Amino acid sequence: MRLAAIFLLIAPCFAETKVLKGFTLIDGTGKPASASMAMTIVNGRIQSVGPTANIKTPAGAEAVDLTGKYVMPGIINLHGHVGATQDLAQGAQFYTRENVERQLRTYASYGVTTVVSLGTDLEPIFQIRDEQRAGRPHLARVYTAGRGFVAKAGYPPAGGMRYEVETPADCAADVAELAAKKVDLVKIWVDDQLGKQRKLPIELSRAIIAEAGRHGLKVAAHIYYLEDAKQLVDAGVYALAHSVRDQIVDQALIDNMYKHGVWQIATLTREISTFIYAEKPAFLDDPFFTRSVSSRVVDTVKSPQYVARLKADPDFPKYPGFLSMAKRNLKRLADAGIKIGFGTDSGPPARFQGYFEQWEMELMASAGLTPMQVITAATGNSAQFLAARDIGTLERGKWADLIVLSKNPLEDIRNTRTIEAVYIAGNAVER
Ligand SMILES: [Zn+2]
Repeated sequence: MRLAAIFLLIAPCFAETKVLKGFTLIDGTGKPASASMAMTIVNGRIQSVGPTANIKTPAGAEAVDLTGKYVMPGIINLHGHVGATQDLAQGAQFYTRENVERQLRTYASYGVTTVVSLGTDLEPIFQIRDEQRAGRPHLARVYTAGRGFVAKAGYPPAGGMRYEVETPADCAADVAELAAKKVDLVKIWVDDQLGKQRKLPIELSRAIIAEAGRHGLKVAAHIYYLEDAKQLVDAGVYALAHSVRDQIVDQALIDNMYKHGVWQIATLTREISTFIYAEKPAFLDDPFFTRSVSSRVVDTVKSPQYVARLKADPDFPKYPGFLSMAKRNLKRLADAGIKIGFGTDSGPPARFQGYFEQWEMELMASAGLTPMQVITAATGNSAQFLAARDIGTLERGKWADLIVLSKNPLEDIRNTRTIEAVYIAGNAVER
């Protein structure tokens, strides 16, 4: 007790310094990995990074020997949802500070050190975010689009977490409200659920994009159809927050995305989640999955009743085709030089935070991206998407948000699961 008190008295006089040594660095820029590296972290930020032989350990610094390990930046998920899910139920009534923070802790434990909650957030998010940005968070950093936009009585149901709009005047008022809360992004849903529900009309999407632009905000769109993607890119959308899934993307869309610098986020795990539970997937017994999921939830998604309910959906047979289309389109866009961000749409029921980001990387690799492309998309590129200058890569001046791995993820992307430690702002998070 007394020692702690003395430490607290003198601690402010000294910077908190850590030196990580001996690891192979994958820095998130896309540059090849470098062996035998070291990194000095002062008060949570990277002060220097280079060959171990060149990095001195200052007196009083904490030295961490990572010989034989691999270090990559923390994963940035550009499409998640926090706060509104409890077990397999979803609703605004679950949205509390405690629930948001519990989920940000889960993300962090899987190496996801930043998450963008895309369009289903309520008041508690703003305080959490603002407190994080004023200090050194010990949970995943959160960005928010506040409440996103759907058509009146449209898809998905507003559920108290989205704005329902009918006129351009509605759009202007709601965008102004979001701007006053300093949201990081604006989200719109443009989908009719295979013709079953009301879709946000293009005039309203245009109004939202224009209003957002006036407030200096960018718009990410949930899309499904190629035609909607084309119209939205013409209207000035910043990102497609899901893959085009009705058909293969054509050259006209590719050219327009390229010209306007529009980002693509694939969310392959969202697609697989629509049918995989009917196939008794082995991951439901994988300790890497079950460590963060209650046994009640695992038992439910394994149950015949749950599977029967999935299969009762008349569109169920189509869902595997949407995944394969999403993968083909991801590969085609990546090959064309379109900017690829990283996202999963995790958070809603049965779309498991943390585990899904790990799985998404594997699915992106199975779509034909190299492990380096996948890692760069999930780190440096996604920071660039957010215009977040101090995260995403492991370079001087950035926050030390990183993952220590025991195996090389460039040899097998599944090695991103061999997590030994996760650091956020230079502190190892509890796992
Ligand atoms: Zn989503």
